[in-house]
Amino acid sequence: MHRLSCIMGMCHSSLCEPVVDGGQSDSTAAALGVRKAMRQLAISLLGPFEVMVDGEQVTQFRSDTSRALLAYLATHCGVALRRDALAALLWPEQTDAEARRNLRVTLSRLRDALGDREMARPFLDVTRQMIGLVEDERCTVDTRVVREALEATRECPHERLEACETCAPRLRVVADLYRGDLLAGFALDSVSFEEWMVVERENLHWQALEALHALTAYHEGQGTHEEALRWARRQVELEPWREVAHRQWMRALAMSGHRGAALAQYDACRKVLAEELGVEPEPETVALQEQIRIGALAPPVKALPDRSELEMRVEVAASTGPTSAHSETLCVAHPPVEPPPTRRAFSSDVPGSERRTITVVQA
Ligand SMILES: [Zn+2]
Repeated sequence: MHRLSCIMGMCHSSLCEPVVDGGQSDSTAAALGVRKAMRQLAISLLGPFEVMVDGEQVTQFRSDTSRALLAYLATHCGVALRRDALAALLWPEQTDAEARRNLRVTLSRLRDALGDREMARPFLDVTRQMIGLVEDERCTVDTRVVREALEATRECPHERLEACETCAPRLRVVADLYRGDLLAGFALDSVSFEEWMVVERENLHWQALEALHALTAYHEGQGTHEEALRWARRQVELEPWREVAHRQWMRALAMSGHRGAALAQYDACRKVLAEELGVEPEPETVALQEQIRIGALAPPVKALPDRSELEMRVEVAASTGPTSAHSETLCVAHPPVEPPPTRRAFSSDVPGSERRTITVVQA
């Protein structure tokens, strides 16, 4: 069996050479010309709990405790966890002996569900004292991918996250994978597990919202307002009273030429704030609504070439051949036009400025 230390590159034993599923070594399989693909495990914890092995959904868990055990192992992927700690997490009300016995049964069911017993390289690394989920190329856990993407944005030497082209794809990874809150709809009759789940859920929730905010701001800055609209809306889906996202949504609509819809969005924002928090919109939101109402925030009108450019074109045409009637017409028919006053959409919202404290208290 491969140890976690091997998977993490800390073991140099010849016994730990990768093998293809079915127990054949690489060289044997190659010699036989029958290399079987490694089995793949994909665990989705963000949103409803979902497990796929080789693209097939795993449904034979037989108990929510098996699901809870796998979810906990997955969030600690690559780490061997003590059996007594896992038993106490899942059965805090029971004696140590009972809890450890339950853990043995639950682990057995989990291994059956994953088809782990028949595999040359099981997904679970199990000893008498420890249990872990291996961390290698066969296992994908969405929370881990999200955390790695967020970590990369923190380590990036950019000046502003919402203007960084390198980080935009990382933010997009987070946005795509965050289907919903951690283990949405899942519950277990264990106070310890529930406490852990709530803390993890809140933590990931805020980090995802921060990433979505930055991604929305990035698209605002790029002028890709449909994308800005999409990710602003996603924030509001996750948290309807998130005022900073309503402002991004309003700006994206206004800058796409949907002034009426932007004003309607303000009304929706005001309504949800009143209903959920009992407060009025912030002055910044009111001021934005006013800007949109008077048309100060709108798509830029494409400016025509100015006079000096047109005159130059006429001069060039005159000096290089017969006078261009078209150029002359342009010069006469279109006097210089001052582009209407427009305001460039940008995010002045600073993450952290929204009413998080209120939200947490009322959630
Ligand atoms: Zn960056």
